[in-house]
Amino acid sequence: MNVYDVTIIGGGPAGLYSAFYSGMRDLKTKIIEFHPQLGGKINIFLEKMLWDVGGQPPIVAHRFVENLIEQAMTFEPTVCLSQKVNLIERQNDVFVLTTEAGEVHYSKTVIIAIGGGIFKPIKLEINGAEKYEMTNLHYTINGIERFKDRHVLLSGGGNAAIDWAVELLPIAKKITVIYRNEELKAHEAQIKKLTQHGVDILLHTEIDALVSNAEKTAIEKVVLQQHGQQSTHSFDEVLVCHGYNREVSLAFAEGLQPVRLENQLFESQGQCKTTVPGIFAVGDIVSYTDKVYLLVGTFQDAVLAVNSAKAYLEPDANSYAMVSSHNEKFKERNQKILAKV
Ligand SMILES: Cc1cc2nc3c(=O)[nH]c(=O)nc-3n(C[C@H](O)[C@H](O)[C@H](O)COP(=O)(O)OP(=O)(O)OC[C@H]3O[C@@H](n4cnc5c(N)ncnc54)[C@H](O)[C@@H]3O)c2cc1C
Repeated sequence: MNVYDVTIIGGGPAGLYSAFYSGMRDLKTKIIEFHPQLGGKINIFLEKMLWDVGGQPPIVAHRFVENLIEQAMTFEPTVCLSQKVNLIERQNDVFVLTTEAGEVHYSKTVIIAIGGGIFKPIKLEINGAEKYEMTNLHYTINGIERFKDRHVLLSGGGNAAIDWAVELLPIAKKITVIYRNEELKAHEAQIKKLTQHGVDILLHTEIDALVSNAEKTAIEKVVLQQHGQQSTHSFDEVLVCHGYNREVSLAFAEGLQPVRLENQLFESQGQCKTTVPGIFAVGDIVSYTDKVYLLVGTFQDAVLAVNSAKAYLEPDANSYAMVSSHNEKFKERNQKILAKV
């Protein structure tokens, strides 16, 4: 039985920074993430700019994620991707985590970093639509250059949809926005940008069918339905922003249930401790007075939770890690980095 000191459920910003800090505290660490990639919900806005992370000049989100991951890997934690933790039990002093596929992980402590949960885009309910996801049907933008000089059909009228339409304005050849309701639900200033640029906005309109190209590899035309009338149009790219379903389920064995509040948030007893000793919660899934649900908040939670885990495992250890500027752990790495400067 390979028992870890700390197992972190969720590889978003809170989980990634917990992994780094856990390494700083000499704890044998594992991260388990549902998605095939790390980064958490930043993966749904990879092309957006981040301005409000301390000490970080404006940075495009995908670059920020790369930095987070690089830092998280400093002490080489074990990373398990594409695994959803379903159940947490305890055998003697060890927590047993079982995934949806039946893999079992053993750990002396657990840090729950499941954030807003597992985000899954709400997809088109059209038979066979999934095959176009390899080509020109998108549920988010991963690489805005792909849309350069393309005619984009964007389906959706909420903030996320309209923000993407605005981002595409200087890139795309043409944008057509369709929305099934009678008015867009996004910020007025953003809608104004679209109307000023002459973007076609069709209300009461939905995608009815997708017509493939001759090779059946990509969407060539889209059948739209407006007020019961069908019309067929050609588009190069189809971007569907109908929101996300999120799943925050996590089962606990009887007698091991940490207190969860509204929205399934774990109640912190201070220092990111849940009501179950040895189980900690960080980031967007924890609740305490004055909690900050932003990236900066996730970092503080990570430090608190890891220090709590260290104290749980080694009650005589220092209550926090030696600061990095004076930490011998980094001496060799610093020399290598400084040699390159
Ligand atoms: C559109 C948008 C824009 C934002 N912009 C900003 C911004 O500009 N500045 C800022 O500071 N903050 C911003 N935020 C907030 C920021 O993204 C979050 O505060 C941050 O991502 C929270 O990190 P987290 O690690 O707690 O959760 P998440 O990022 O949600 O990561 C949780 C991870 O846990 C995984 N997971 C969930 N359940 C399981 C399970 N059972 N097993 C395994 N893995 C699981 C998920 O797949 C996910 O990868 C924005 C959020 C959104 C939605």
